[in-house]
Amino acid sequence: MKISSLALTAFVLLVGTTTHAFAPRGTTTLSITSTGSSSSSSSANIINSDDNAVLTSSTNSKNTALFTATSSSATTTTTASEVGVELGLKYCPIAPFGKGNEAKHVLGGKGANLAEMSELGLSVPPGFTITTECCNKFCNDATWDNSLPKPLWDSIIKSLDAVQDDMSSVFGSPENPLLLSVRSGAAISMPGMMDTVLNLGMNDKVVEGLAKKTDNPRFAWDSYRRFLEMFGNVVLEIPRSHFEDELDDMKYEKGVNEDSDLSAEDLQELVTRFKAVYETMDMQFPQDVLEQLSLSIGAVFKGWMGPRAIKYREVENIRNLLGTAVNVQAMVFGNMGDTSGTGVSFSREPNIGTRELFGEFLINAQGEDVVSGVRTPRPISELEDEMPEVYKEFVENNRILEAKFRDMQDIEFTIQEGKLYMLQTRNGKRGGEAAVKIAVDLVSEGLISKNEAIKKVLPEHLDQLLHPRFPDVEQKEYRDAVITRGLPASPGAAVGRIAMSNEKVVENKKNGIPSIMVRDETSPDDVEGMFSAEGILTARGGMTSHAAVVARGWGKPCVCGCTALSVDEEKGEITLTMDDGSQKTFKEGDFISLNGQSGEVLEGSQTVAPPTITGTLKNFMEWVDDVREIDVLANADTPADAKEARKNGANGIGLCRSEHMFFKPERISKVRQLILGSNEQAEEALKDLLKFQREDYEGIFKEMDGLPVTIRLLDPPLHEFLPSLKEENILADCAEQLGFTVDELKEKVEAMEEVNPMLGLRGCRLGITRPSIIKMQTRAILEAALNAIDAGIDAKPDIMVPLVGKVEEFRNQRDVIKSVADTVFAEQGKSCDYKIGTMIEIPRAALTAHEIAEEAEFFSFGSNDLTQMTFGYSRDDVGSFLPDYLNKGILQDDPFVTIDTEGVGQLIKMTVERGRNVRPDLKIGVCGEHGGDPRSVRFFANEAGLSYVSCSPFRVPIARLAAAQASVENMKE
Ligand code: ADP
Ligand code: MG
Ligand code: MG
Repeated sequence: MKISSLALTAFVLLVGTTTHAFAPRGTTTLSITSTGSSSSSSSANIINSDDNAVLTSSTNSKNTALFTATSSSATTTTTASEVGVELGLKYCPIAPFGKGNEAKHVLGGKGANLAEMSELGLSVPPGFTITTECCNKFCNDATWDNSLPKPLWDSIIKSLDAVQDDMSSVFGSPENPLLLSVRSGAAISMPGMMDTVLNLGMNDKVVEGLAKKTDNPRFAWDSYRRFLEMFGNVVLEIPRSHFEDELDDMKYEKGVNEDSDLSAEDLQELVTRFKAVYETMDMQFPQDVLEQLSLSIGAVFKGWMGPRAIKYREVENIRNLLGTAVNVQAMVFGNMGDTSGTGVSFSREPNIGTRELFGEFLINAQGEDVVSGVRTPRPISELEDEMPEVYKEFVENNRILEAKFRDMQDIEFTIQEGKLYMLQTRNGKRGGEAAVKIAVDLVSEGLISKNEAIKKVLPEHLDQLLHPRFPDVEQKEYRDAVITRGLPASPGAAVGRIAMSNEKVVENKKNGIPSIMVRDETSPDDVEGMFSAEGILTARGGMTSHAAVVARGWGKPCVCGCTALSVDEEKGEITLTMDDGSQKTFKEGDFISLNGQSGEVLEGSQTVAPPTITGTLKNFMEWVDDVREIDVLANADTPADAKEARKNGANGIGLCRSEHMFFKPERISKVRQLILGSNEQAEEALKDLLKFQREDYEGIFKEMDGLPVTIRLLDPPLHEFLPSLKEENILADCAEQLGFTVDELKEKVEAMEEVNPMLGLRGCRLGITRPSIIKMQTRAILEAALNAIDAGIDAKPDIMVPLVGKVEEFRNQRDVIKSVADTVFAEQGKSCDYKIGTMIEIPRAALTAHEIAEEAEFFSFGSNDLTQMTFGYSRDDVGSFLPDYLNKGILQDDPFVTIDTEGVGQLIKMTVERGRNVRPDLKIGVCGEHGGDPRSVRFFANEAGLSYVSCSPFRVPIARLAAAQASVENMKE
């Protein structure tokens, strides 16, 4: 099967050389005349064939054409389907508007919706769509060779005939010309990434004819200069600025501000200058309209594989698309005078979601004028005064489209001499507040069900809503205050004084002064300061750096990896180096603001709005909770965390990391005493720690009255609590407290260092080798529970053993816990219910889940460790290769963010199956970072069948939504 040499000469040259796009007419040209059409100028060297169509195709290949001939334009579609077979395509390569179906995948979003709109009877200029599949072949299939094969071109010409009939005009005819737009449109919209050519079909003769026919020379020359610019830019890659400079010069020479003030003569002169631009670039503008068409279609296809589009898809994580479709459409003209215009509008306000049109229009303008900023557009509401009839129709069209697509629409339209044309519609992008309001409103308007509303609100929307934010980031004051930008590590808005050390932040906090902690990078030593700060800004570190992870956990705004920032702690100054090399210095104590959503850093104290948990959001979250089938718990270590979790709707605590309470200054010395001291010293320390822990647990039980609280026994290696050997002061204090010399202390600390601490003496290994700590913790938990119960609280402690790999480990720990419990209950003469379960985070535990389930009363996946150990990637060092792995497609996602369903997911499913075989009602949850990741939540709920997910208190509403969306998805299947 071979399609040989069926290439457009011009394309071949376009690909081969960049300067000379157009070859002299070759000798081997095949002229294409669109049959039955009077379109004349068809002597073009459109298709260059040595041997005419050497097209072969397996005649018995099944015709799986999507678009079957069902309509009046049967000839077109039937022919097109046959062409599809001939070209080895799965789908018919061309579909006229109004006759297609909703297959966005094949028609692209724009094409599919143009078809929908014309089906609805709205006025849409006629045209047709060349499928994404053709783009795919064009770019990737060697036999197409970056060109349009003859049968496809024939079909294009045939489809064009239908458009000519419809418009009663002829492409390329000077007397009665049809002009076209060639518009890109992929299945997922890629704003600004792909190209469009307007006013195609213009040449030196057509412009004269059009001027005469319309009696509007200004319009004709305006259209011509626009075409020259767009064709030059999109097809020949002449930088747009070359044309824009000419336009600016012209406006300057004529003393006008707006291009609409240029006269016909001015525009005619501009056309001459634009042609000169081609010449200086050594390019030729094709007068032949069919050549214009084929080249433009090819250029749009080619744009799909352009560096800009590729990068965009990479950044936006867009995969598995065939390509862009091309929509060829009759032009309508917004530049025909004062009864014409063009505009862009949303069917509802996209920031707060009110039901009113939100958009802009321009009189006597075309195409991208509205968004490009060449003229200042007017608010859509003024269209009502300007053209009341058109406005009325537009409002009605909005209603029709919302009813059809059952969502807020983003619409492009043009008015030609008082007649409205619809050019594009799609579901509109919106902010968090609008997302919730629109979803709820659409339900009350009867357009969608509650379940559909739940699907319409994205996790990112809720994320925006649940953090303090800057009310209007488009406002000039805000934009002017932006000084630099880093990585948007943790969303939200923060305002405070620059503080460069832990101590400074803490001191500020005591005095009621808000701080932004600014550091080169943060370390675990900065935790207290980070906690006390309003937001965190670092010069180094990525999205998973210490600062980023900690800040996200607390829902604190954070901007990290801000490369323009240099921090001089000694001087108490930070310096920002601007793009232009200039520098700006700020002192400790100066106010700055952070936007954790965009990564922007602003000078001064910007206005912040509180999270908007309005009645509507509350209402919406009630629907969410009604439909979700799994519980959402929180990872909370303190009573304050627990309170936040409950406020956000948590069904309990899935992970209380008991050792997190050890870090407070008055406690850490006790912990050090416990680890390093003599037996008596250790015993004394345990007594103090017991008191602290009991208080904490009691506080947590109170906040969680009636809900389960899962407490994990000591997990990290002990040396994490010891002073660093570099900190002389702390070492000296600690040595004095314990009665050692500093050297003796250093020796002891050194002796505890491990080569590979993550795989070392931690988790239940500690509990087994040094049971005194977990005995103390168990006692603290149960005494706290008994105290709480005495105070009328329904305390539900679940005690969780970490890092179990063998059932014997679990048995050992369970026996220790049970014997402590028996002692406590005997001492107090009363008892309470409690459960003993385990984390599943070592692959061996997953493999032997059936054995462990015999003994353990619940499972909780520690998905971070499980991922680490399944992949063999160190969580702490993964940054050295992860970016490469993602770029090269070896990994699709960061497995520490989104659960690896194929690998780690198998272990999870296996664990659930084996565990529940033994204990059918086994409660199984997940408490790693994945518990707050929407895609992972879907897997846990629908595929793994877990009972709950547990995540940071701030992500609880997002996890609730994700869980509800998972349930809705499940219903469909
Ligand atoms: P994008 O995908 O970048 O929005 P479009 O294909 O929608 O590109 O084209 C951009 C603009 O060009 C439209 O909003 C409209 O103003 C103008 N345009 C496109 N096709 C036509 C047409 N057939 N008639 C008049 N204007 C058009
Ligand atoms: Mg558009
Ligand atoms: Mg773990």
